[in-house]
Amino acid sequence: MTEITARTVCYGLIGDPVSHSRSPEMMNAALSAMGEPAVYLAWRVETSRLKQAVEGLRSLGVCGWNVTIPHKVSVMDFLDELTPEARAIGAVNTVVNRDGVLTGTNTDGTGYLHSLMEDAGVLPDGIRVVLLGAGGAARATGYALARAGVRHMTVAARTAEKAEELARRLDSLTSVDALPLAEARRAVQEADLLVQCTPVGMHPETDAMPIPADWIREGQTVSDLVYRPRWTRLLREAAARGARVHDGTGMLIRQAAEALRIWTGKKAPVSLMKQVLDTFQ
Ligand code: NAP
Repeated sequence: MTEITARTVCYGLIGDPVSHSRSPEMMNAALSAMGEPAVYLAWRVETSRLKQAVEGLRSLGVCGWNVTIPHKVSVMDFLDELTPEARAIGAVNTVVNRDGVLTGTNTDGTGYLHSLMEDAGVLPDGIRVVLLGAGGAARATGYALARAGVRHMTVAARTAEKAEELARRLDSLTSVDALPLAEARRAVQEADLLVQCTPVGMHPETDAMPIPADWIREGQTVSDLVYRPRWTRLLREAAARGARVHDGTGMLIRQAAEALRIWTGKKAPVSLMKQVLDTFQ
């Protein structure tokens, strides 16, 4: 455990709920291994108190914090600056406090991309992608993939208007179209990479599938952003059909590693962070 002194600095997580989060264990182990005199806490913040909480964190000199559900969009109103990523994605998951100036950024997209390349060995340049879902995680991964040079992206979501809206956000970056989820069979079969960005299959409804298993083909890569459970039914069905599978824990670790890099200027110990999360599987 890090020795607490008058010079200890503080980082943390705001959201509601946060009691299920493993981020404090993972981030404190990382900060300690990085030799940072710092602690990372989790604070449950109700929506009605978000503005006061942000002002309190600013005033107390909390150096940086992560933001999770339900505050990723609403927190933007209380910050001084946004990075181009946060602005393009329309959500913030990481805040930096430099001498009282609060800057919001978003590391979900880069976290996903690093994990895709380093954990699954998939290079995005020139590939065809289908995103399932059009919420915050789809916006972040879609933005990162589009910037990384994918050839074509299809956004498939159960609410067609939301799929179309996300496709419009991305169409200056890549070739993109939108489909209702129920009509995405052919696009899924033709894709090199399928990215599952809905909560379908998450604990406790672990038997649920976002698409029929027979849409998946041998040789394609299937990413599931859901990380609880790590091996979702979608990933198990995909592996059984000869697809390459990529689970959501890599994105979870790498978006956190990217936040640590932004806060401290140092490379985070990704293997140690993975080991810590593995103890909870
Ligand atoms: P969100 O903003 O609420 O978006 C959820 C999306 O899923 C929406 O498009 C929603 O459609 C769709 N959806 C919800 N239930 C569905 C269902 N039964 N069938 C089909 N579509 C459905 O949530 P989010 O922040 O994007 O998170 C999505 C998932 O990604 C969550 O499981 C989250 O834990 C995971 N995630 C993982 C990481 C990581 O580091 N691995 C990071 C971020 C998020 P409607 O708009 O029609 O409701």
